[in-house]
Amino acid sequence: MIPAPEHSEKRIIISPHGDLDSSLINHVGNRVSGRFGYRTEVRSLLKEIDFALDSSRKQYYSTKILERLAGLAPVHAVKVLSICEVDLFIPILTYVYGEAQLGGKACIISTFRLNDELPAINGQDSYRQRIAKEAIHELGHTFNLRHCPDRSCGMHYCRTLRDVDSKSEEFCRYCRVLLDDELKRLS
Ligand SMILES: [Zn+2]
Ligand SMILES: [Zn+2]
Repeated sequence: MIPAPEHSEKRIIISPHGDLDSSLINHVGNRVSGRFGYRTEVRSLLKEIDFALDSSRKQYYSTKILERLAGLAPVHAVKVLSICEVDLFIPILTYVYGEAQLGGKACIISTFRLNDELPAINGQDSYRQRIAKEAIHELGHTFNLRHCPDRSCGMHYCRTLRDVDSKSEEFCRYCRVLLDDELKRLS
């Protein structure tokens, strides 16, 4: 069998939007790569997200961004994760940390609500950890994982930063089995 050329290898694209620190993006990329077993590639797919701005709420409608992102995904993208700094919402909620297309191509997280003054249980590195956890959570949805009742599992639904700090980047055994099945299906 002829090995596939490097560029045809499937990757998780990380699309930063805004003035995000590159070491933060690299950290998230490493954690994501370790969890899902795909290499990551940083590539900004969206020039602007004003189309998603709700001027009365002064927040950005994440579902609209996801639709646009999914359409911009390059062929070699198994998934696309956007990381932005603006406050995201969906109509039924006051705000969201992120959103994903269940079993789909695109997901997004925002650093806006994760960059809080709340002291973390997990120490000074909590900001990066929170962002990595939410990135892994939303990507988990794109790999068809749903919310998990286990409070320490990465797929646990978090309403507060305390919830985020209490969970891990890892998936519980149950979610891990579901993820492995999905990864096999995609390979
Ligand atoms: Zn979720
Ligand atoms: Zn779980």
